[in-house]
Amino acid sequence: MFWHGVLPLEADLSATGKNQAALHEQAVWLMRGYFGNQVFVRGVVEVSNYCRENCHYCGMRRDNHELERARADFAEIADHLIHRCPTAVTDVNIQTGEDPVAVWKWYCH
Ligand code: SF4
Repeated sequence: MFWHGVLPLEADLSATGKNQAALHEQAVWLMRGYFGNQVFVRGVVEVSNYCRENCHYCGMRRDNHELERARADFAEIADHLIHRCPTAVTDVNIQTGEDPVAVWKWYCH
């Protein structure tokens, strides 16, 4: 149908009418195949909201001088994840802006 492999092509994303409905049906079919009716709770931990990029839609863009910037402390976050993470959380997504300092602190140590 639309998808070539797992991901739709850019042209598929601008489908309208019947083609858009077919795309949505295919997305639901794939989602049910992977996840069934199970509920997954993803915990998102944002370890830094510094970002060197400037995507216009994003609150973390570098030119947003209204945003109070922060980087999380590794030991504090590790303690929360190990000892205080709700049991309902099935997976944790650790994310940051395009922040080389955070990447160095979090992923290179
Ligand atoms: S956090 Fe991501 S989306 Fe936001 S400005 Fe940075 S690179 Fe762009």
